[in-house]
Amino acid sequence: ATSRRGINRKRWPPSLRTMVEAADLLVRTLGECRIDSPLPGLLDRHGTTEHYVDEADRVLFDDTLAMVGERTGKPPSFEPGGPRRQIFFDPAKIRVGIVTCGGLCPGLNDVIRGLVLELTSHYGVSRIVGFRNGYRGLVARHGHDILELTPAGVQHINEHGGTILGTSRGNQDPVEIVDCLDHLGVNILFVIGGDGSMRGAQRIAQEITTRERRIAVVGVPKTIDNDIPWIGHSFGFQTAFGKATESIRAAHIEATAQPGGVGLVRLMGRQSGFIACYAALANNDADYVLIPEVPVDLDGFLPHLRRRVRERGHALVVVAEGAGQEYLAADGADASGNRLLGDFGIYLRGRVLSDFATAGQEINLKYIDPSYVIRSVPANPYDSVYCLRLAQAAVHAAMAGRTEMVVGSWRNRFVHVPIPLAVASRNQVDPGGDLWMSVLEATGQPTSFSIPDRAAA
Ligand code: ATP
Ligand code: MG
Repeated sequence: ATSRRGINRKRWPPSLRTMVEAADLLVRTLGECRIDSPLPGLLDRHGTTEHYVDEADRVLFDDTLAMVGERTGKPPSFEPGGPRRQIFFDPAKIRVGIVTCGGLCPGLNDVIRGLVLELTSHYGVSRIVGFRNGYRGLVARHGHDILELTPAGVQHINEHGGTILGTSRGNQDPVEIVDCLDHLGVNILFVIGGDGSMRGAQRIAQEITTRERRIAVVGVPKTIDNDIPWIGHSFGFQTAFGKATESIRAAHIEATAQPGGVGLVRLMGRQSGFIACYAALANNDADYVLIPEVPVDLDGFLPHLRRRVRERGHALVVVAEGAGQEYLAADGADASGNRLLGDFGIYLRGRVLSDFATAGQEINLKYIDPSYVIRSVPANPYDSVYCLRLAQAAVHAAMAGRTEMVVGSWRNRFVHVPIPLAVASRNQVDPGGDLWMSVLEATGQPTSFSIPDRAAA
């Protein structure tokens, strides 16, 4: 479990932050930046300073006093994103590739568009290709064509969900992928994808290093579940939970319209329940939120739900797909090797129905699963802005020769996060943290269903 850079995943919990060391935040570069950036430096309000990133500037990893006090020496810090005065690649000479991998997420097209516009309009890069259908498009054997990307070609793509490049899962050989990059003369590869794609990008970057090539691999992390750590929040997340609130609203209306009304909304969240938490907080209709991070005790939950329906006439349950796995025997994996989760939403529906039946209590249950509707919508304006700015930061990083890194946002600054760090742990809802506390306060659900609820039975 120890990566090349000495990041040992087994060491992570319980206090992830104290485990990160300055060395974990070092970003690899391909070489010295010797070329003047074609970007015009912006003047500040005094008309003096240019808005290039000062290479000595850093963004504090943790700004708590305790954290800074505990450390000896310099506290860990991120390299900030943004344009450099000197860049590594000569824009006139390079070719750039873009690929999208993994599941759909709002904002993919915004990121593609942002990369193309920044590369062309600001740096003057004219040769940009899009690979089709994920990493598969970089493996010659599969015979996918490549798409020439131009500003005109990407002009309105942000108005649509999905990805114009297509995507895929399934393992591809990094050797064949680097063969393809070599063959096409690609100098920068942008990967827009999730944790799996970033592990793939890491292997591609390693293969590039082995061959001593100067090819930059820069990621824009995509995760609708918001489960990639150290990037602030992921693009598309706000759109996703916003869309999810529509289902919660609908389920609530259904539940209140009938005697014994129970709404059960199943949302995404394989390992992390952020969408369920935020969607539930957005309109305060949910009475229960079940997430992967907090064990579900059905022996306590079911009587609690029955009592709630008896007393208030209806109830609304929001359940993240990865919750309650302790009740399901999940086995198998998808094409990318991701563990398949049992469907707790469906399981829970069965348990709720039979529990009410056994107790002789009336129930009208409506089950809503909006997952695919949520994944495929276009980004909302907030996410569109965020996607564009992440794309700009990714281009600045790559042009300055950074590699094996992803862009993120930390303390309202764009930062460079080394891929080994981004894939070494998972961003999860902290059951002892303030987000989960807000959910408990907003829903009124107990901290634990295991504590016997005497009034229930
Ligand atoms: P999502 O958030 O939708 O799961 P993802 O990027 O994690 O996105 P995956 O299907 O897991 O989606 O992976 C996308 C691509 O990355 C696939 O082509 C897969 O083969 C590759 N990949 C996944 N895990 C690894 C790994 N450990 N090493 C190399 N490549 C990987
Ligand atoms: Mg994944």
